[in-house]
Amino acid sequence: MSEHQPAKRLRLILGDQLNAAHSWYQQQDDDTLYVLAELKQETDYVKHHVQKVCAFFAAMQAFANALRNAGHRVLHLTLDDTAKYQDLPALLTGLMSQYQVREFHYQLPDEYRLRQQLSLFCRELSIPAMAFETEHFYLSDSELKDYFFEGKKHRLEHFYRKLRCRFKLLMQGDEPAGGQWNYDAENRQKLKATDFAVVPAPLMFTNDVSDILTRLKRHNVKTIGLAHSSLLWPITRHQANELLQYFCRHCLANFGRFQDAMTHELDMLAAPVNGELALAPASDAKVEQVTTPEYKKQWSLYHSRLSFALNAKILSPQHVVDTAIATYQQADGAITLAQIEGFVRQILGWREFIRGVYWANMPEYACLNHLGAKRELPSWFWSGNTNMNCMQQAIKQSLDYAYAHHIQRLMVTGNFCLIAGIDPDEVDAWYLGIYIDAIEWVEMPNTRGMSQFADGGIVGSKAYAASGNYINKMSDYCSGCQYEVKQSHSDNACPLNALYWHFMQQHIDDFKANPRTRMVYANWLKKPPEAQQLILQRAEFLIRNIDNL
Ligand SMILES: Cc1cc2nc3c(=O)[nH]c(=O)nc-3n(C[C@H](O)[C@H](O)[C@H](O)COP(=O)(O)OP(=O)(O)OC[C@H]3O[C@@H](n4cnc5c(N)ncnc54)[C@H](O)[C@@H]3O)c2cc1C
Ligand code: SF4
Repeated sequence: MSEHQPAKRLRLILGDQLNAAHSWYQQQDDDTLYVLAELKQETDYVKHHVQKVCAFFAAMQAFANALRNAGHRVLHLTLDDTAKYQDLPALLTGLMSQYQVREFHYQLPDEYRLRQQLSLFCRELSIPAMAFETEHFYLSDSELKDYFFEGKKHRLEHFYRKLRCRFKLLMQGDEPAGGQWNYDAENRQKLKATDFAVVPAPLMFTNDVSDILTRLKRHNVKTIGLAHSSLLWPITRHQANELLQYFCRHCLANFGRFQDAMTHELDMLAAPVNGELALAPASDAKVEQVTTPEYKKQWSLYHSRLSFALNAKILSPQHVVDTAIATYQQADGAITLAQIEGFVRQILGWREFIRGVYWANMPEYACLNHLGAKRELPSWFWSGNTNMNCMQQAIKQSLDYAYAHHIQRLMVTGNFCLIAGIDPDEVDAWYLGIYIDAIEWVEMPNTRGMSQFADGGIVGSKAYAASGNYINKMSDYCSGCQYEVKQSHSDNACPLNALYWHFMQQHIDDFKANPRTRMVYANWLKKPPEAQQLILQRAEFLIRNIDNL
């Protein structure tokens, strides 16, 4: 069949809708044209990490090839092909006329911005349009309204238990397996030097994305982060499954135990291997000669790094959870219930919960700023050039890999922004751009809600504010820092200590009645007024000099 032959039906596949198991693909039909398109509107709505753009574009290309090999009619358009169209509606209008299309189908976008755009577009269409479920999540789109309500302060635990019962996961009849819903007390340990030797090296792929990097440059796409012509992230179902298997084999047994741990000493102890990566520049992306990164483990530890494959829908959450549970069941005690429960909670619990909160509260959620934070993000968030070792480690790692694990996002960078009073719009834009897995539906409630408390407690029951003490408890960062974690107001004192008390003092009316922070205020009020004054003065000095910390 000629590539240009008319098609009765056009089916749009967005970059995060790469679900090969979708019912759309059960039948092959030459009257249906599947369209995947690289678009400037998607590369430019925020400044993305270069590896993130490459991962989405490479995964779309691979998905188009897989569909074509399965006998479907596919049009895969690159930035070169779509440059003449102003946006997605303009492209669709052009294609509908070119292929004499009589029906338009799309899967419901998970992002409000795109859902609005397509819904408005369909309202103006003179041909029938149909929206389909993505068939990806545990809860279908239409079911969310039964679980989530606008403005309601939902709690993860309650929701998670309901889903465990409904989907019969880790259950013995009506009771949780092992008699407990939560094993946090056994998890969340610090990683000690004696644990270093057995930390697994991350499984990395070598997907050639040099053509995509050249294209980004040609179309002047502005990006952040380190560009590699070899992309380490999985872009096909086969690779994503390999990563899942690797996680189950090497990481699951310690997943919960070291879920919150952070280290900068692990890689310092391992010898770097000399070598170079072939690098291709993408516009203003930072490009540098680096040593071969195989020896680097501290950025991934025991985390699955499956979030990109999940969020692009290359893997389904059911497949990931079922595979992990099967591994636990076959492990003959080598993987404890605490570890598998910790993992299932993240995917069945947090991931579905966050999505429910997003859809119940958009579009208003995007403007919430409960604590009235207005400060600009310090410029070193874009370079990692700060003397605070914890921030430097988390930011540089994010720029190098487009990845940081949950506690680095929540308790290092997120905590700093919270206690320094950074505007949640700026914080959201940074998180939405920098991470490989950042799509608004999952990024925003985590950032604006859980980490910045800008939603006033819709996602979490307290603000995740912490002093240097928390970082010192969960990491070895402080041992390599020029600041002194035990001090609060000296010239060399850890900035997080004074900023923490300043934040708590400033928001005393918001938090003093909260049972989870009552003790904090009791400790603060125990300090002599002169000591309080010195701490608050130090915080004000730090805020005035925020770009030079
Ligand atoms: C400020 C902030 C911003 C975040 N932004 C994003 C984002 O843009 N995209 C994103 O997918 N996650 C986000 N998260 C959640 C979490 O940090 C990442 O899902 C996780 O770090 C991804 O790495 P991993 O695949 O190795 O996860 P693992 O630690 O191996 O966890 C397994 C899986 O559980 C799921 N998961 C765990 N925690 C969460 C959570 N809080 N919300 C949703 N899913 C969760 C993810 O799918 C993850 O792949 C954010 C968290 C914070 C605190
Ligand atoms: S001393 Fe403070 S700034 Fe330095 S690493 Fe520790 S917590 Fe971070």
